[in-house]
Amino acid sequence: MKEIIYLDHSATTMVSDAVLREMMPYYNKFYGNASGLYFLAQESKNALELSRQRVARAINARPNEIYFLSGGSEADNLALKGVARANKRRGNHIITTKIEHKAILNACRTLEQEGFEVTYLDVLPNGMIRLEDLRKAIRRNTIIISIMFANNEIGTVQPIEQIGLIARKYNIIFHTDAVQAIGQFKIDVQRYNIDLLSISAHKFYGPKGVGALYVRQGVRIEKLIDGGTQEGDLRSGTENIPGIVGLGKAIEEADINLYQNTNRLITLRENFIKNIETQIPGVIINGDRKYRLPCNVSVSFRNIDAKSLIAELSNRKICVSGGSACSSKNPKPSHVLTAIGLHPSIANNTIRVTFGLDNDMEDVIYTVNQIKDIINH
Ligand SMILES: *Cc1c(COP(=O)(O)O)cnc(C)c1O
Repeated sequence: MKEIIYLDHSATTMVSDAVLREMMPYYNKFYGNASGLYFLAQESKNALELSRQRVARAINARPNEIYFLSGGSEADNLALKGVARANKRRGNHIITTKIEHKAILNACRTLEQEGFEVTYLDVLPNGMIRLEDLRKAIRRNTIIISIMFANNEIGTVQPIEQIGLIARKYNIIFHTDAVQAIGQFKIDVQRYNIDLLSISAHKFYGPKGVGALYVRQGVRIEKLIDGGTQEGDLRSGTENIPGIVGLGKAIEEADINLYQNTNRLITLRENFIKNIETQIPGVIINGDRKYRLPCNVSVSFRNIDAKSLIAELSNRKICVSGGSACSSKNPKPSHVLTAIGLHPSIANNTIRVTFGLDNDMEDVIYTVNQIKDIINH
């Protein structure tokens, strides 16, 4: 029996051994500032550019279209604010959805205060937008569409290819928050017509506090940080070389093992759903049954609140999340669960189980049994 059963991989993952091994020398052996002119700096510079190539290869971009920064939240902020501010002469209208991560939704609030107008698309009960709603929302002054690849709470995957085609047809810049999708779907920015894409290393066995933004060459974007003009002057600040090395290694590993890993996760997910539905009558599985993250189960119960259930599971060394990690301090029901039409009382009875590479079928069976035991008492 494991000491802990970790089922919150959409909140964050452990750093894999291979990733950690590759990062370590850059803390105390190759610690040069990549901007230096001596050999020690060159080591850092080489590592930086190798990581850039690895990220570019994983999403079919070019290395000079990859910018390293501090994580998913910064990538989302830079994409949205950077593009909106740089393109305000073309228009002031933004389209997004009601179920985006708070990094997007709160960046939109800031832009609204600057005079931008934002349309927040509704979603269907399965969490998907309607393409017809997107088409209707487009105006002559729409400059950017930002729609997440896959939702972090309910796992629903959006019709990204069709969204990309619509954006291209109307000549609107298309950003997607792919933080949850990396390592779970093969992402090709050419095939999907994606112009900007947010990445965060700690969601796929890389370190926390490092991420990347893909920006298609030619897209006008304004920086958020002034300084020493690192990262093509889009993101100043001494590069986090160990973190960037970890990101590059983690995305390469995720890409190489993509199909094997996702098949494993889908098996765990489907067995969990089958077990919980047969053992605990009346549960609701949120999100789309087919178009969902391989790792994700979002489940609502009729008569136990998530807070008590999570606390009791935690006593039994099982880690799961409520709506999402970011809102677990917040007593308000999750904006995502509300947007798919869950009654607030049911939304507050919802847990999120997200599997990872350290889980197996025993974890599935044990966890469902523990949930059943808790509910029965
Ligand atoms: C985790 C997450 C983020 C934020 O990434 P950080 O690196 O933690 O800032 C943004 N969007 C989605 C969908 C996420 O799951």
